[in-house]
Amino acid sequence: MINSSLKQFGEMLHTKKISSVELTQSFLSRIQQYNPTINAYIALDEAKTLAQAKAADSRIAAGNAAPLTGIPIAQKDIFCAKGWQTTCGSKMLANFIAPYDAYVITQFDAVGAVNLGKTNMDEFAMGSSNETSYFGGVKNPWDFDRVPGGSSGGSAAAVAARLCAAATGTDTGGSIRQPASLCGFTGLKPTYGVVSRYGMIAFASSLDQAGPMAKSAEDCALMMNVMAGFDERDSTSLNREKEDYTRSLNQPLAGLKIGLPKEFFAEGLDASVGKVIEDAIAEYKKLGADIVEISLPNTGLSIPVYYVLAPAEASSNLSRYDGVRYGHRAESYTDLMDMYCKSRAEGFGAEVKRRILIGTYVLSAGYYDAYYLKAQQIRRLIAQDFVEAFKQCDVIMGPAAPSTAFKAGEKVDDPVAMYLQDIYTISTNLAGLPGMSVPAGFSNGLPVGLQIIGNYFDEARMLNVAHQYQQVTNWHSKMPELVLPKEVK
Ligand code: GLN
Repeated sequence: MINSSLKQFGEMLHTKKISSVELTQSFLSRIQQYNPTINAYIALDEAKTLAQAKAADSRIAAGNAAPLTGIPIAQKDIFCAKGWQTTCGSKMLANFIAPYDAYVITQFDAVGAVNLGKTNMDEFAMGSSNETSYFGGVKNPWDFDRVPGGSSGGSAAAVAARLCAAATGTDTGGSIRQPASLCGFTGLKPTYGVVSRYGMIAFASSLDQAGPMAKSAEDCALMMNVMAGFDERDSTSLNREKEDYTRSLNQPLAGLKIGLPKEFFAEGLDASVGKVIEDAIAEYKKLGADIVEISLPNTGLSIPVYYVLAPAEASSNLSRYDGVRYGHRAESYTDLMDMYCKSRAEGFGAEVKRRILIGTYVLSAGYYDAYYLKAQQIRRLIAQDFVEAFKQCDVIMGPAAPSTAFKAGEKVDDPVAMYLQDIYTISTNLAGLPGMSVPAGFSNGLPVGLQIIGNYFDEARMLNVAHQYQQVTNWHSKMPELVLPKEVK
């Protein structure tokens, strides 16, 4: 039952085979059993969760249920949820109870979905392994010695271990797709502006975008139907007509043009990951797709450009945490300046401090033109590469991450090695394009994700492309075994 699709859960609820309270309780008991080991959730509130489930049952009984009514969803702890501890994985916000709901939370509440709890994440979404979280690392459900990826590591582990029906995440440089690849599920980062960022704690505002993390493309489509929408409280939210993201799922793929960028298959890609991707492409050929060789000549500059722009935006976004209005405040200080300094020194972890330093540096007078402005110019070139590429193909494919899940601790002392985890995902964020990761197989027992990049607003087609593949393969329904370590007495 626990491995059912959102549609199947919906059917069970609507035909009263199970109540939302029962379904929620079965997830809560799995969480109780596995979360002490996996550490996917950092805030749980059974009373609140079950009250929502009860309300969902009344709504179903009254006959006005929506597709996700009564379904338990995990929320990344980057989304403010009224009355919930909302920490963004940081000591800085460890004592923060959100006084209002993020747009995404409001959308799930409106359809009567159940909030199962808040999931662990890298501090302020900065990281690729969940190891920068103030609340500790998260274990990859496929191998507890390995990381789940990041920054949405808690949501990723929760989806993979079936500790929720589906989850939300955010992706600034790859934080939905890289963990989806490392944990073996389907994740989508929508076109920038499709999901409102209101109430989503800001990291790099011109790159941050929320999206679904779920078992299948069909599940992601159902989640997108809830998450997408215009909201005037986010000035970059796009005022577009509501779409049904499930509308093209069943279209055949004959004649689909798939672009393979040669830069995505060059040095740096683990050979066994490359092999899985090749096999996935062969499957698409069988489905009638045509392959086109393409090039994204500036994509190699994505990481350096991102590590100028994202820290620059982060350094200004994070200036609000001053110990005055909310969040951590140092216990003892001599004057106002000392209070700012101590509160920030104590409240932020090493990676966040590193980014604030870089960001402040590249924005300072004298360096602004050399770094920030230059990076903005190259960002435009990277986006232009995609415009050219999409003249030749309908979707672009490649790996989502250069390797499978790595061991905890393996890259913590080498920030550049960690930054390279997003080598295939960051260019999409810089261009504002949608991207997804789809389970495509295993290498040494660890999942590998196929990345699908679409043109602006082409999410429905990408979901179609992923769904058709999931009709002829079953990688997406594979579940890890979850053998808990024996208690040492
Ligand atoms: N790993 C990247 C970083 O550390 C991306 C994080 C994200 O997408 N939130 O910035």
